[in-house]
Amino acid sequence: MEKKIMLGEKQIPTHYYNLAADLPFSLDPPLNPATKQPMGPDELAAIFPMNLIEQEVTQEKEIEIPEPVREAYLMYRPTPLIRATRLEKALGTPAKIFYKYEGVSPTGSHKPNTAIAQAYYNKIAGTKKLVTETGAGQWGSALAFASHVFGLDCTVYMVKVSYHQKPYRKTIMHLYGAEIYASPSDRTEAGRKILQEDPDCPGSLGIAISEAVEEALQDEKTKYSLGSVLNHVLLHQTIIGQEAKRQLEAIGEYPDVIIGCHGGGSNFAGLAFPFLRDKINGKDIDVIAVEPKSCPTLTEGKLEYDFGDTAGMTPLMKMYTLGHDFIPPSIHAGGLRYHGAAPLVSAVLEHGLIRAMALDQLEIFEGAVLFSQTEGIIPAPESSHAVQAAILEAKKAKEEGKEKTIVFNLSGHGLLDLSAYEAYMNNELTRNGR
Ligand SMILES: *Cc1c(COP(=O)(O)O)cnc(C)c1O
Repeated sequence: MEKKIMLGEKQIPTHYYNLAADLPFSLDPPLNPATKQPMGPDELAAIFPMNLIEQEVTQEKEIEIPEPVREAYLMYRPTPLIRATRLEKALGTPAKIFYKYEGVSPTGSHKPNTAIAQAYYNKIAGTKKLVTETGAGQWGSALAFASHVFGLDCTVYMVKVSYHQKPYRKTIMHLYGAEIYASPSDRTEAGRKILQEDPDCPGSLGIAISEAVEEALQDEKTKYSLGSVLNHVLLHQTIIGQEAKRQLEAIGEYPDVIIGCHGGGSNFAGLAFPFLRDKINGKDIDVIAVEPKSCPTLTEGKLEYDFGDTAGMTPLMKMYTLGHDFIPPSIHAGGLRYHGAAPLVSAVLEHGLIRAMALDQLEIFEGAVLFSQTEGIIPAPESSHAVQAAILEAKKAKEEGKEKTIVFNLSGHGLLDLSAYEAYMNNELTRNGR
């Protein structure tokens, strides 16, 4: 039996896979926030470089990965696909459980997959500085790292409550040479306005996005970078699913169930989209996006046009949303606290190609502890949503007496989230907030 399925360096995918080109329906375009008219590529050029805007709207099915990007991926890719044999045994399930482990990246999650690509495309487009927001710090760390790899400056607006609660993520960003500001800050109009109304505002992702976008608009050589939600971000992440497919092929397996946790949709899409390509062509696969019950965008949100940020500066996107002014409770899975969802993930959910599931904070930590004790890896609280969903599916397979193959994405490790584990073990956590 194969436990750890590795690929050789030469087997890093050569192309990104664009699901949009294979969908049997068309997507609704982003709208200009002021005019509410469909937005053309030129209108996005103030905040993004043109080469990434092209990827945002392309109908090409396969997009070649540039050599310098593939070379940077070699630092940690291909990532392993691991069979969770000890977890299977603990559950007594007839199901086979595999996880794709993205926590082996330098910053500990899947986020460098797009950070590296975005830094490269910005570099060749003439960008000097990237500016972004970060919640728990995973995205800021990844972009700070990637910016350094390609010689760009990097400024990160970090949600104030995390800025004070997650000092180690701040250290990582500093180490890679980024500038970090607690958001809301007094550096932008959006930040000053909020501070005037509420000097003690703890911040939110939506506010930090407003600040980062505002800074990008001030200077032509400064561009904004987003770590999830957008089509080009999901596109870059499809290397995860392509690798997983090859790894399963190598041992003669094919998944019945695919699972990913969902914040803005990028790691879920990264694993799922290359398999959705098969589903569109007739394969029978159950594809599940898992979100927190306290931020139930896919399971309880409305499918409508909404802003990506609080101040209403981003384009309007057609997506499942809880409303751009929704401020989710401070659960420990900071990376899943976003009011919206990727338009592409929203569309495949609307059309029944995937389904969504919501889990609460106590359930996911229960799964995370069992996973840590059996497989040894301590999962990020975000990834633990996928872990627990895989456990539930494996238990269902046991009840039904079915030999299913379940594949989930372990989007990151939790070694910088130990205070959350400590709180869980001390019974200090609640189901839907801290
Ligand atoms: C950011 C993050 C997520 C959520 O973002 P998606 O775009 O939905 O993937 C999930 N897991 C980890 C480890 C993260 O850092």
